[in-house]
Amino acid sequence: MRKRCLNLSLLALLLLLGGCYTVPETGRSSFIIPLGDDVAMGAAAFAEIKTKEKISADPVANDRVRRIGQRIATAVGDALPGAKWEFVVFDAPKTVNAFALPGGKVGIYTGLLMLAESDDEIAIVMGHEIGHVTARHGAERMTDGVIVAGVGLVLDSATKDSKNHDLFLAGYGLAAGGGMLAFSRKHESEADFIGIRYAAKAGYDPRAAITFWQKMAKEGSGPKMPAFLSTHPSHDRRIADLQAWMPEAMKLYEKARSRY
Ligand SMILES: [Zn+2]
Repeated sequence: MRKRCLNLSLLALLLLLGGCYTVPETGRSSFIIPLGDDVAMGAAAFAEIKTKEKISADPVANDRVRRIGQRIATAVGDALPGAKWEFVVFDAPKTVNAFALPGGKVGIYTGLLMLAESDDEIAIVMGHEIGHVTARHGAERMTDGVIVAGVGLVLDSATKDSKNHDLFLAGYGLAAGGGMLAFSRKHESEADFIGIRYAAKAGYDPRAAITFWQKMAKEGSGPKMPAFLSTHPSHDRRIADLQAWMPEAMKLYEKARSRY
């Protein structure tokens, strides 16, 4: 009984430590309990992924992804404080996937590069993944998880580094043993919105979002549904939303084009 009371007190304390975060581009307010240094954990997780996955030696692919990524990083600006941007191509032709972690760490797999035919489409994917990070979806999801699971989880994770690490990876959609975990529909939609705006501000055509996701849906209708797509729901809804947001994004694109 006393332990439960202690747990509840700690939970109350954590809730007090939490604060509201204003999501860039959308202005939505989200509640986040700080559960560690996002930037440091992102860097550590990325370093680990780099030791496990095969990094592409293709200078053309690497240059291309870095060039697109740098332009998006410029568009993100100070929405990601403390970012040390890094863009890495992983050599895995069968993996149609991309991800971004706090601190500006971005990974993209050659399988996805083969599917995305234009720089515009690659910019859309990177904008979407980076949108999850600047919106702090991982931290929000970790917060929700802590509130749901109760303070026991926090006590556990605070004492065990590996658990903390797993929680962090799960928060950012990466299962500890590889593979992807789904973001919620709300987070997916928000990352779509933010992503086309980052791409547009970086001088990439936001309409590529529609062609890209249509292509992904077609790919996903076959037997070999990419893991990336399985975590990205409701195709028709997504296309309808993107179309509704397009006029605003096109204005940003027209403005940015004179700079690039
Ligand atoms: Zn997503």
